Amino acid sequence: MDQEIILGCHLSISKGFKAAAEIANSIGANTFQFFTRNPRGGRAKALDPKDIKGLKQIMSENNFGPLSAHGSYTMNLCSNKEDVRDFASRIIIDDMLRLRELPENTVYVFHPGSHVGQGVEEGIEYIIRGLKDAVDVYPEANIALEGMTGKGSEIGFKFEHIKNIIDGVGKGNLGICLDTCHLYSAGYDIVNDLEGVISEIDDTIGKERIMAVHLNDSMTEMGSNKDRHEKLGEGSIGIDALVRFASHPALKGRPINLETPNEIDGYEREIKLVRELIRKSC
Ligand code: FE
Ligand code: FE
Ligand code: ZN
Repeated sequence: MDQEIILGCHLSISKGFKAAAEIANSIGANTFQFFTRNPRGGRAKALDPKDIKGLKQIMSENNFGPLSAHGSYTMNLCSNKEDVRDFASRIIIDDMLRLRELPENTVYVFHPGSHVGQGVEEGIEYIIRGLKDAVDVYPEANIALEGMTGKGSEIGFKFEHIKNIIDGVGKGNLGICLDTCHLYSAGYDIVNDLEGVISEIDDTIGKERIMAVHLNDSMTEMGSNKDRHEKLGEGSIGIDALVRFASHPALKGRPINLETPNEIDGYEREIKLVRELIRKSC
């Protein structure tokens, strides 16, 4: 039997995890992504065990796949400033402690960071250091480094960067989160050569290390290095390529989340559209 794809969207947990799961379920999603804390600030709310219990119940009753917990944008493990790196290390360790209270298959997704001048190689060394400490706190954690567009001094816009980080850490359960907008902006042609891109992932990182997916169209052209998400079908990637991506066998069982510029009703439309088009293509 063909397993239904695990598709959802980014949701706020300001009213709790159970409330977010209820919204997800009501719009045809069987996963969702949330920020572990305010994306721009530092502090995280304490987890409420009753809320987590309610979350797990909705997930099991409705066959949810793994959730995605997205780390803060301010967390830069590879800054050239020591205090920024220390702050990032404390945040990721705190995120690991919180992740232990969440459903155990939850995937932690974060941006590798920006080296702000000292170069990719040194930046990668700092990321490795920060991740080793995080893995020690929660060795079983699923940690996915998100592939980036390469804007500014971002690290992680080439699969090799992520491979070098995973190899350098040498422990834990590390992988990659594929964001279609980021891949395309970084110059990976998922429109005309999806198979080529997937083989490149397999040859570097290994396709079994694909842990999560962000399904977004892009406002900008391939190779632009810009990070501007667009609604599905309204950007340079297009709905056909996005549906081919979401239904690729290498991604089977992975949580796929929309991060498109939408409110809940727009997410609901896109989730229904993708499910419908995948069904038709089978
Ligand atoms: Fe992200
Ligand atoms: Fe993303
Ligand atoms: Zn993005």
